[in-house]
Amino acid sequence: MKHLNRLLGFFIFCSVCFFVNAQSASFVPLIEGANQIGVKLYWDSLAGIGVLEKDGHSIQFKTEDQIALFDYRTFEIVDAPKIVNGSVFVSNSFMTRVENFFGNSKPVAPDSLFKIGAILIDPGHGGKDTGAIGKHTVNGKSTQIYEKDVVLKVAEDLYKQLKTAYSDKKIYMTRNDDTFLSLEERVEIANKTQLGEHEAILYISIHANSAFDKKASGFEVWYLSPGYRRTILSEDAADKEILPILNSMLEEEFTTESILIAKFILDSLNTEIGKESPNRGLKEEEWFVVRNANMPSVLIEIGFVSNQKEALLLADDKYLHKVASGIYNGLASFITHFEQSRGFTSGQ
Ligand SMILES: [Zn+2]
Repeated sequence: MKHLNRLLGFFIFCSVCFFVNAQSASFVPLIEGANQIGVKLYWDSLAGIGVLEKDGHSIQFKTEDQIALFDYRTFEIVDAPKIVNGSVFVSNSFMTRVENFFGNSKPVAPDSLFKIGAILIDPGHGGKDTGAIGKHTVNGKSTQIYEKDVVLKVAEDLYKQLKTAYSDKKIYMTRNDDTFLSLEERVEIANKTQLGEHEAILYISIHANSAFDKKASGFEVWYLSPGYRRTILSEDAADKEILPILNSMLEEEFTTESILIAKFILDSLNTEIGKESPNRGLKEEEWFVVRNANMPSVLIEIGFVSNQKEALLLADDKYLHKVASGIYNGLASFITHFEQSRGFTSGQ
């Protein structure tokens, strides 16, 4: 981020002449240029986002956008790439910058390629905050089931499974007992996690549902709404006008990852518990915990404590183990996918 202020200076100084240059600069097809120097192009036509990748180094760019992101760390002002007849075109100076960047970058050792460095499991509620409460009378006996207890059991089980399978990753929980944590505290734990240079963290929030309609039942997985613009970068790091652009570039990436994790988890949950509980599908929302965590994040609603049949299932440890295994299997598929595609999953 240090380079940014200098670049901004350049940007403001040249903003008048830049427009003229961009008009007269000759544009070349990116795919041909990339092929010539052995650089792979991943292209997400829906988002208009592309990534050039070679030897573990990358340049991320967006069409009609003057900012390119190098190695997920430094930003530079470039001539905005554009689409001509369905293909990506870049200016000659952008192409030269691409050639120089990859030509001067030493290959990254395989162990420092993008990978999942940490997984933070967040069982909802706790302590004085019980979450949803299901009150039911079964065989003349009244029982109560608390969301905070059910989600903690699932989280602990998931933690054990992840810890066994991924000794190389940091696996955490926001709470491992009946403690109250504010939403802000949960987000802080997530954002303070120390990561290596090429590591990403996944944030997995676990909740149970409740509804006035006692018939409502089933599981669902929520991901971050693509329309929501988060402030990922700190305010003092860059000019106010440029921040939304930088944020949106990073956010597109996180949204794509969040949707994929959500989809993998939903499918695996369906395999584990789909016969006993209805699959309510993927949901898109601006959950507080999810939207304030600077990382791919999902929120899983494992079932309705307000539904008597489902409350009985959620009170059964064997059923909760199936729920935890469903989440685990989904995460495992995502991790394999993420690490094989070197951290970029769009457009392949
Ligand atoms: Zn909840």
